[in-house]
Amino acid sequence: MSTTTSKNPYTGKEIERYKNHTKAEVSEIIDKADKRFYSWRETSFSERKKLMLAAAAELKKNKQEYAETMTAEMGKPISQSIAEIEKCAWVCEYYAENAQNQMQDEIIKTDAHKSYVRYEPMGVVLAIMPWNYPFWQVFRFAAPALMAGNIGVLKHASNVFGSALNIEKVFKRAGFPDNCFSTLLVGSDAIEDIIKNDKIKAVTLTGSGPAGSSVASIAGKNIKKSVLELGGSNALVVLKDCDMEKTIETCVQARFQNTGQSCIAGKRLLIDVSIEEEFVEKLVVKVRELKSGDPADEETYVGTLAREDLAEDLEKQVNASVKAGAKIVIGGKRQGAYFEPTVLTNVTKNMPVFTEETFGPALSVTTFKTAEEAVELSNMSKFGLGVSIFTKNIEEAEKLSFQFDEGAVFINELVKSDPRLPFGGIKESGYGRELSEHGIHEFLNRKTIFIN
Ligand code: NAP
Repeated sequence: MSTTTSKNPYTGKEIERYKNHTKAEVSEIIDKADKRFYSWRETSFSERKKLMLAAAAELKKNKQEYAETMTAEMGKPISQSIAEIEKCAWVCEYYAENAQNQMQDEIIKTDAHKSYVRYEPMGVVLAIMPWNYPFWQVFRFAAPALMAGNIGVLKHASNVFGSALNIEKVFKRAGFPDNCFSTLLVGSDAIEDIIKNDKIKAVTLTGSGPAGSSVASIAGKNIKKSVLELGGSNALVVLKDCDMEKTIETCVQARFQNTGQSCIAGKRLLIDVSIEEEFVEKLVVKVRELKSGDPADEETYVGTLAREDLAEDLEKQVNASVKAGAKIVIGGKRQGAYFEPTVLTNVTKNMPVFTEETFGPALSVTTFKTAEEAVELSNMSKFGLGVSIFTKNIEEAEKLSFQFDEGAVFINELVKSDPRLPFGGIKESGYGRELSEHGIHEFLNRKTIFIN
């Protein structure tokens, strides 16, 4: 019997051992999901809206319960886990209110008596999700998918199966019909057969590049649509006329929230050389104030990484960069799954903390002399999720924003997801969009109707 064990990264203790679904069980779950599709797609928007609002209410009502499981499974500080659950309620409410409008027929004038595009759900969509935002990543897929009339089947990361089952529970408690949303307890070795299953119509993956590449190849081979939300190494571009105090506050949050384990975290601070010294000195004061500790404690801001091997990976990246000439101005040490909030200066474009994604609390600092150089440094990344620019000159910043090879540019703000705005990347950060009208349209068949 194959099992998956979840372990608390802070205490090191085993939380639960889950029996993985067998091939036969997986196939049965997919069969039931497919069967449900044909009745679910016939439900009215008002019926779906009622259920999705009930899901939002359920999330709010039991946020403590859901947050505690997340915190235990992957070390996210509890206050941030609660905020994540609340954000999931928001995305449910957003799509409950907007899906119908977003899926309106689109009349197109042609030589026909009437011609239009009708948006129709595709069927069962497989979602392969990561552990860093165990609820949010799933809900930003599930809310539009279900409102559109699709069915969701989730393969969650192996260290957060408790949260995966909780998400299934949210939809059950909200009153959704059985099999509208199901969880598969399987490892990634089961994915190929699942994608090949005729009843799976499309796949979305949020995760690392190698996982994305593998899933997209299998989907491509089987002519199935895929959406990929992969890694990122966002730059925080600090120009010399920024509001220094506010910028420091935003940069600290951009890098250190969720203990640095966010695809859209600001990982590379690019700063005008003329203000580097003062900026870094003040930044370090703020980083020192961040409270590390037990993720279950409400006061904790920096928890452990989700697994010890992830902290080891970060340690290797930091050490290799130091060997190449980077200087640690604060932090740099690891203890089990905990990694100290770290700031590295003297970082150049060939160091691992610059060229690779750092998935933990380590901020690299690189200087530039001109805005053009900043753009060049930012664009050197193989990723293209987003970038933040900090300056008082909004007009110039807006012009500059067009120069970045990114899915998003935020001016005087950290890159963040918002149900109303499209979210996604270019280059090795993936393709396709989540959230907003663009997100719901990813898994719809645009059917042309032509009446003569
Ligand atoms: P990961 O190792 O790629 O895992 C993500 C999911 O993919 C998990 O469910 C995992 O299952 C599965 N998986 C792994 N290898 C696979 C394969 N070869 N075939 C099919 N499925 C596979 O990523 P992670 O370490 O959990 O998450 C961190 C990465 O996700 C970072 O690179 C981060 O930037 C990225 N991310 C991107 C976004 C975004 O929106 N762009 C958001 C959050 C995170 P198992 O757990 O069973 O291996």
